[in-house]
Amino acid sequence: MEFEAVIGLEVHAQLTTKSKLFCSCSTKFGSASNTQVCPICTGQPGVLPVINKKAVEYALKLALALGSKINLYSVMARKHYFYPDLPKNYQISQYDIPIAVGGEVEIEIDGKRKKIGLTRIHLEEDAGKLIHDERQPYSYVDFNRAGIPLLEIVSKPEIHSPQEAVAYLKTLRSIVRYLGICDGNMEEGSLRCDANVSVRPKGSKEFGTKVELKNMNSFKHVERALAYEIKRQIGLILEGKEVIQETRLYDEATQTTHPMRGKEEAHDYCYFPDPDLIEIQLDEALLERIKGDLPELPLQRKERFERAYGLSSYEASILTEERTLADFFEETVKIYPNPKAVSNFILTEVLRYLNRDHIDISQSKLKPAYLAELLELVEKETISITLAKQQVFPEAYERGVSPKQIVEERNLAQESSEETLKRICEEVLRENPGEVQRYRDGKKGLLGYFVGQVMKKTQGKANPKVVNRLLTELLEQ
Ligand code: ADP
Ligand code: MG
Ligand code: ZN
Repeated sequence: MEFEAVIGLEVHAQLTTKSKLFCSCSTKFGSASNTQVCPICTGQPGVLPVINKKAVEYALKLALALGSKINLYSVMARKHYFYPDLPKNYQISQYDIPIAVGGEVEIEIDGKRKKIGLTRIHLEEDAGKLIHDERQPYSYVDFNRAGIPLLEIVSKPEIHSPQEAVAYLKTLRSIVRYLGICDGNMEEGSLRCDANVSVRPKGSKEFGTKVELKNMNSFKHVERALAYEIKRQIGLILEGKEVIQETRLYDEATQTTHPMRGKEEAHDYCYFPDPDLIEIQLDEALLERIKGDLPELPLQRKERFERAYGLSSYEASILTEERTLADFFEETVKIYPNPKAVSNFILTEVLRYLNRDHIDISQSKLKPAYLAELLELVEKETISITLAKQQVFPEAYERGVSPKQIVEERNLAQESSEETLKRICEEVLRENPGEVQRYRDGKKGLLGYFVGQVMKKTQGKANPKVVNRLLTELLEQ
């Protein structure tokens, strides 16, 4: 029997607003525990929350970018449950009327496009964070995160493999970063994902019992957790057992999942409209303004890069994954209009250094003008590509100075003058009469040896093309 996996993802994206969703506390990451709190986000009685306009605008940005239908009128609701990191014992979220419904995320795997539909996008507040110390008989709670705005993006169960799930997540991450509404950092928890997964016999239209997976904080974890879970569920069915609806945690150490709790029914939360908050009312003018300000999205940009610059799908997809890198590429091409050369250098050298330093191009000291200048120096044969890669680029990258300046300071310019090089070539041949004889007797491989000698005398600065030609001419006389 063949099986098909059915996956639906619930993604939480932490919005990069300066203040929290209902109070003016800072959302800065990494501050000392409980230093970014106030009576509102710690749930003191009698306080009145007021919604953050920026957070609403960010929600609209994403919803409009994904083609969702905006509800001009939506409602904040209380979702009741008890947990020590939830100071009010309810979370302010959206329930029956979310800010947006529908829409889709278009993914690409091996050149094939696929649209994953969305159920809804809603706004809610984050909870605090429990910190467990194994050596203590108690845990700590940090409320700095309580009240930070989140967008929950719920996909339809239209994903059918762990690879598709990862592509969906990566695309969504890229989009929220393009829009500048979430930093997409999975390790710091600014982009989190719960994965719902079930299996069914291939061809069947009915859904199997789903399991919800939590605790995955990288793309790799999502992929491994889903792969394990799909196998586990198929195994159960083949043994004639039942899949139980539950929430399971992924454990990276064993790369398996284990039960956390049975799934609460939605009505357990006893949702009702928050009486302290007015409805969110939007007007068309705001939507039009936000729509007008939307940037070109990653997939469209990738398509344009292939078309306009003649890049391969692979090159274009890497260059457009981050908006800052795509901008850097285009800025460089404006100055040095050889897209292929710019792309090659970015994909190999630039990315190697950025990955090494775990930074974004915008955080580096490299400027488009520097890369353009460097490639021009290579094209004009002032320096060789090897020297450019090994010495000039690393220095331009580290120090943030112009390659021309480095070449001058270090006296790296290639020697291309025929006259000078001819004199040095003749000198080398004169000093190696034995080798010259052997060359003329047929040992043509010795040419490399002579070139090496010329390089030695010029500290590697001789233009190898010219040297090769000159030596051959002299030796064949
Ligand atoms: P719940 O109320 O349990 O949270 P929802 O209907 O809100 O369930 O769906 C939550 C997520 O689970 C959505 O992303 C949805 O696509 C996905 N989902 C729903 N049913 C299934 C299923 N049978 N198998 C896999 N995913 C599912
Ligand atoms: Mg759910
Ligand atoms: Zn606060």
